[in-house]
Amino acid sequence: MLTAAALPVLAAVTLALRPASQDLPTSIDLTALAASAEPVSAGGDEPRSVEVTVQRNDTLDRIFRAAGVDNTTLTELRRLPDARKALDLLRPGDIITLTHVDGALQSLNRRISNTLTLSVARAEQGFAVNYIENPLETEVSATRARIDSSLFAAGREAGLSGETIMVLANEMFGWDIDFALDIRRGDEFSVIYQRKFQDGRYVGDGRVLAAEFVNQGRTYRAAWFESADGAVRGYFTPEGRGMRKAFLRAPLDFTRISSGFNPRRLHPLSGRVRAHQGTDYAAPTGTPIWAAGDGRVQFAGRKGGYGNTVIIDHGRGVTTLYAHMSRFGRAGRNGRAVQQGEVIGYVGSTGASTGPHLHYEYRVDGKPKNPATVPLPNTEVPARYMAEFRDTAGAAIAQLRLARPVSPEQVASR
Ligand SMILES: [Zn+2]
Repeated sequence: MLTAAALPVLAAVTLALRPASQDLPTSIDLTALAASAEPVSAGGDEPRSVEVTVQRNDTLDRIFRAAGVDNTTLTELRRLPDARKALDLLRPGDIITLTHVDGALQSLNRRISNTLTLSVARAEQGFAVNYIENPLETEVSATRARIDSSLFAAGREAGLSGETIMVLANEMFGWDIDFALDIRRGDEFSVIYQRKFQDGRYVGDGRVLAAEFVNQGRTYRAAWFESADGAVRGYFTPEGRGMRKAFLRAPLDFTRISSGFNPRRLHPLSGRVRAHQGTDYAAPTGTPIWAAGDGRVQFAGRKGGYGNTVIIDHGRGVTTLYAHMSRFGRAGRNGRAVQQGEVIGYVGSTGASTGPHLHYEYRVDGKPKNPATVPLPNTEVPARYMAEFRDTAGAAIAQLRLARPVSPEQVASR
């Protein structure tokens, strides 16, 4: 579609004329249309489809006249209670498609949003108004990947969008797998996901319906579930337990680490120092650090060899500590209530540190412990939804075994 900036100054409206049956629009400009003595018309009773991009200060009257459509019909359309509001509120950039036979309107389609279209079509008596929801076509795809260098490289090779890869890490498995440190060569994952098309063109990935991640020989599975009444939604294990946990495995944006993923990092334990019973994440200065769980900031300030440090109290004797920060984040303030994932600071090298890294400790009653995967309360699928859950999420999980690696040719054709 042409943008306003690309239009000649004098042309108030640019029309893309096309026969209803064809897909490739040819653009003509309105001033040329007006100047032409012979109206552009297929003649006879062949329907013509005209696609109009609304410009600033456009009105439907003007658009109808410019498109060669009898605008007395407009009075009739405005009387349709369901359509009036959607017809009168025009925004520059809106696309309106008019189909007419010799100027007699047959249908008007107007995209209200990416997923909603107003459709007014001639009926036996007058016009019928329909709101068409979700004109995006969705297909379900399955893919499988094996990690050789990085999660991203493997995901991209398997045809997944960057967003979909992030869903695996941030919405499905980030509470069980430390994507910054625990990914190894040979890890595998399968994904059942939606791919969206509009007018036959791929426009992006949709929801991940189910995925399996094999990390260092351990298998994790999750599926999307949204109950018909909307009361339950999220990612769950095949048994119906929520994937979200009280603590993130890696409290920082791992994508900043895995950009330029070093295969050496795949070596077990490289980059992880356990001597002081914390976990060290080597990451560039400025990498955002996230609150691992909900809580309250107990301390934010300089703390000896730890340098700039934040300590969060999560209740029940659990605290987390983040050290060597270059600076504090918006949420990294004394006494502030924080939510999991909020930025409390940025990676640095303050205090006794030899290079930029996050030193992270998970403590129970003051003693460093391995971070625990504590399930969040009330995230299980309630019993009364289990039948529905098994039907929908279960079907997606069953599809996982159908996932095969995609060939490079398949990826290229996407
Ligand atoms: Zn450390």
